[in-house]
Amino acid sequence: MADPKGFLTTPREEWPRRPVEERVRDWNEVYVPGALLPIVSAQADRCMDCGVPFCHQACPLGNLIPEWNDLVSREDWRAAAERLHATNNFPEFTGRLCPAPCEAGCVLAINQPAVTIKNVECAIADRAWEEGFAPPAPPERLSGRTVAVIGSGPAGLAAAQQLTRAGHTVAVYERSDRIGGLMRYGIPEFKMEKRHLERRVEQMRAEGTKFRTSAAVGRDVDATELRARYDAVVIATGATAWRELAVPGRELAGIHQAMEYLPLANRVCEGDLESSPLSAAGRHVVIVGGGDTGADCLGTAVREGAASVTQLDIYARPGSERDEDAEPWPTYPRLYRLSAAHEEAGELRTAPAADADARLFAASTLRFTGDGGGRVCALHLVEVDAGRRTVPGTERVLPADLVLLALGFSGPDRGDGLVDRLGVELSPRGTVARDAGFATNVPGVFAAGDAARGQSLIVWAIAEGRAVAAAVDRYLTDAPSRLPAPIAPDDRPMRV
Ligand SMILES: Cc1cc2nc3c(=O)[nH]c(=O)nc-3n(C[C@H](O)[C@H](O)[C@H](O)COP(=O)(O)OP(=O)(O)OC[C@H]3O[C@@H](n4cnc5c(N)ncnc54)[C@H](O)[C@@H]3O)c2cc1C
Ligand code: SF4
Repeated sequence: MADPKGFLTTPREEWPRRPVEERVRDWNEVYVPGALLPIVSAQADRCMDCGVPFCHQACPLGNLIPEWNDLVSREDWRAAAERLHATNNFPEFTGRLCPAPCEAGCVLAINQPAVTIKNVECAIADRAWEEGFAPPAPPERLSGRTVAVIGSGPAGLAAAQQLTRAGHTVAVYERSDRIGGLMRYGIPEFKMEKRHLERRVEQMRAEGTKFRTSAAVGRDVDATELRARYDAVVIATGATAWRELAVPGRELAGIHQAMEYLPLANRVCEGDLESSPLSAAGRHVVIVGGGDTGADCLGTAVREGAASVTQLDIYARPGSERDEDAEPWPTYPRLYRLSAAHEEAGELRTAPAADADARLFAASTLRFTGDGGGRVCALHLVEVDAGRRTVPGTERVLPADLVLLALGFSGPDRGDGLVDRLGVELSPRGTVARDAGFATNVPGVFAAGDAARGQSLIVWAIAEGRAVAAAVDRYLTDAPSRLPAPIAPDDRPMRV
């Protein structure tokens, strides 16, 4: 740290977001371009270079946070980029999308605002691309061994990059028409512009990774043939089987899953569609589900020109301060957080919604009613207490002609038949079962990411990809791997 008193003299300052009126008129990222670099070195200088850096422990990737904070405070961007890429293949993704468990664990957060670790990470990653500090790193020698990675989300991409760099010949099979998993179709452009994804895919191509799109293994590509053709297979197919809401009226038109709605908005941004067939334009939108997927629906509906919007959360409104008894530092606390999307609802919030950010807490959906023509027109809800018991006399009705269900995911989608054709066993939770070495019950077949861990986060998916690559490398070479393995399959995240 250049200034040992930085944390005493410099207040926390985050990358500023563009004014709401401006950003809701486009799909670009919400941040002010170019506004991070001038503030970030002083922010990195707030780091105390702790003897026991809890930030490092809180990060599934084991990011060397105090080291790169120091390098950024001294403006040594090349060395910072090298330290960052030593543990994270895709820091521009996590620098934009991670909920930053590292910041919840930062020692400074005990009694003052944490170091802006995520912003520092993003600044290093972006600077690395600008300055050419992240060139392709093809292997010096090929091993002659082949690997098929099924799924091109962050887990599959991280596994493929690690294995390619280790000298194996890797092909990524993706059922969608573009690479990226939920980062491509799911996460909206305003959270991460897809040009970041394109740039990494180009880097991986230059290193030798092959990509096969529109290739659903189990449907378009025979799974057993694939297993026979490659020396090892990694299943990284995500956990996209969505949860349902079994209440009366669910069958009405106008009620959709978030993941039916969000990818269409992504396709508009990609230029595939002029407008989304499920566009929220002019509609009264109610989003059922209080998580990040629901917030992504909110920001998308606002940009599409919704008439009104409400997001329902079954949990009570959390407090703004950490509850030291229930969630002591360094755990990740459940706090009232205002995401960029929540700042944007403003006048669009449905009149009876309680909060200015369009969220209605402790709300449970009872039923939907239709307009007589088979289309939803209203959502009936009731307040619930902490034990999810309904509070008598609190029933109310919201106008709703577009309802989006964002209730989470239960496990891998089995529609393609991949799991059954390969004969891999599932865990009692419905995820792909694997042992302590990331191996499934089928010899040579490994599993990583949400498909095996269950619905999680990008940072965990990248950590899984890196760890499964080390396991596959060991299997292929029958020798200890030089690839790092940041996590074990049963490591549990801090609740985020
Ligand atoms: C709307 C939404 C927003 C999110 N926002 C965030 C966020 O802001 N921050 C964060 O950290 N996490 C976020 N998440 C969670 C995060 O995206 C996931 O945890 C992460 O993408 C999981 O990575 P993965 O590689 O395991 O799977 P995925 O990203 O789901 O990728 C799996 C890929 O496998 C492909 N596939 C599936 N079956 C087959 C088959 N048979 N053959 C070939 N390909 C196949 C799929 O098409 C997909 O491309 C969000 C999730 C959603 C749904
Ligand atoms: S815990 Fe916070 S202050 Fe300590 S090393 Fe990590 S980022 Fe710096």
